Amino acid sequence: MRDIMQKITQEQIEEVIQLFNPYMDDYLYLMDLKTDYYRISKHAVDRFLLPSDSFSDAFNMHQQFVYAEDFPYLSQDFDLLLTGKKKSHNLHYRWLDRNKMPIWINCRGTVLDDEDGTPHYLIGCINETGKKQRANNISGLLGESELTSYVMSNAKDKPVCGFLMRLGIDDFNAIHVALDVSYGNYVIRSVADCIQQCLTESQRLFHITFTSGEYMIVDFDSHTQEDAVVLYRSIQEKIAAFIASQNYKSVFTLSAGIIELSVLSSHFEDFIKLSDFALDQSRFSYGKNSYYIFDQTDYDTFLHRAEITTALYHAVNNNFAGFDVYYQPIIDCESHRLLSAEALMRFSMPSADGGKPVFISPLEFIPILEETGLILPAGKWILNEAFSMCSDMQQYIPGFTVNVNLSYIQVIKSNVIKDILSAMNTHKLPPECIGIELTESGYLDTNQHFVQFRNALKENGIHFILDDFGTGYSNLHCLSDLNPAYIKIDRSFTNKAIINTYDHELIVKIIEMSHRLDLKICIEGVEKPEVLEEFQKMHADFIQGYLFGKPCCRSEFFTNFVSN
Ligand code: C2E
Ligand code: CA
Ligand code: CA
Repeated sequence: MRDIMQKITQEQIEEVIQLFNPYMDDYLYLMDLKTDYYRISKHAVDRFLLPSDSFSDAFNMHQQFVYAEDFPYLSQDFDLLLTGKKKSHNLHYRWLDRNKMPIWINCRGTVLDDEDGTPHYLIGCINETGKKQRANNISGLLGESELTSYVMSNAKDKPVCGFLMRLGIDDFNAIHVALDVSYGNYVIRSVADCIQQCLTESQRLFHITFTSGEYMIVDFDSHTQEDAVVLYRSIQEKIAAFIASQNYKSVFTLSAGIIELSVLSSHFEDFIKLSDFALDQSRFSYGKNSYYIFDQTDYDTFLHRAEITTALYHAVNNNFAGFDVYYQPIIDCESHRLLSAEALMRFSMPSADGGKPVFISPLEFIPILEETGLILPAGKWILNEAFSMCSDMQQYIPGFTVNVNLSYIQVIKSNVIKDILSAMNTHKLPPECIGIELTESGYLDTNQHFVQFRNALKENGIHFILDDFGTGYSNLHCLSDLNPAYIKIDRSFTNKAIINTYDHELIVKIIEMSHRLDLKICIEGVEKPEVLEEFQKMHADFIQGYLFGKPCCRSEFFTNFVSN
């Protein structure tokens, strides 16, 4: 190596560095260890916080563009190079890009000594470790960065018709687990071959995530959605034939998310993200082994849901800012006396334009809380809020009770009985003042957690209330099993019972039967006096509905029900 420096000068090496510049993504460099001078490929300056492509005071200057935390490692390595203890340099560390964001690099180089054996030059190459791999040797296909440049140069800003089709092997991990990685790789390669066989010259195939079986076809051949679907079907057939040819060693399916290129016009930069969404839809909404054609309205709904999810996380982490509890009165059907209130969760999130907070219906945000697990902290929070309100109310209405809705997620995934007892203690509420509402539809008589929970409520003397009766199977066996304090008849059933003779008869019988079993009945959704009258005739026990009060905040509830 040392011979090089005898044949060419330092200036010539520097020229070579810049000569290769246009053809390289990586960065060549030379450092003169004796004069503390540094030279690097010009395009490195566009990417990193370098002062220039050549500079003196090289070692110290590194402090400007090396991520501070990594500088000590570099310094240590430099010491070894300068003292001749090390002849090669190979370090993974971080440089700062022009936005001062740390970028992982791998700097490799060799020390060239002078004739007297002292280190003179360090020459080598720097490459970005985190940069996307361009091609994949398993599938033999080009990867995401090539896909992006192909789409950008062939479709963006041009009036083209065609489709993007993101294809994914369903449950690919199962193949890895059941067989082994090498068979998994064989499947990736074979699926790529199967797809390739179905394509024309105007349909190009890329491999998306290298570790899993996901591909993208950029299709300039198909003109209609039907054409794209025909292509998908032909790929499915090829895959089925491949699986059979392997004697069903591994049986798998392929899903597709299809996007019309014309739909992408306003967000070409996001095409990978949109295709990800489309593939997910085909799997999770259409049950895998199927296709989904991208629809902007679906995507807007998805984005809105994602926005709510983010807002919920933020609110839970900020002391439940944006959450509130509304209370709706529950009245004795005969005397119209106020007995209780149902606590109902409310959530408003900041509006995008900084205006008034946007109210989100519990029908929308409760399922998200359940899906994300945030129902666990939020459920605990509402228990405390509701018990505190009930405790205050009891000063004015002795024996006043409060009902809190629980989700089955809380029962199955947390020690919710502990939360209930702890909130009860905090607010000094006797157990008979608490009602726990659980819906009929989620009832699982065989679930161990649920059985234990039901028993714990009984042992602690806390009322259990069966909610939304009439929406699920109206399972009579579940009534004797659960032995609730009372049953709440769902609003939809209440209204049907007024207009429909059959449902009217049914509810009369349900009330009679419940009374015989010593169970009470609460009718939800009573909005009109004539409906109240009807249920009074049937001897319903309790009434909840707009007729006696819409859900309202704690202070309004006090104003409405305590002062008169
Ligand atoms: P739900 O438990 O059946 O609550 C009763 C729903 O009926 C409430 O809707 C209430 O505002 C509405 N409602 C009551 N009377 C009338 C009426 O006369 N007319 C009409 N049109 N509606 C009436 P809301 O507050 O929108 O809550 C919807 C659902 O969200 C609740 O249904 C419950 O399943 C769930 N939810 C609310 N808060 C919580 C909570 O803290 N935890 C859990 N797990 N679920 C909750
Ligand atoms: Ca309820
Ligand atoms: Ca209900």
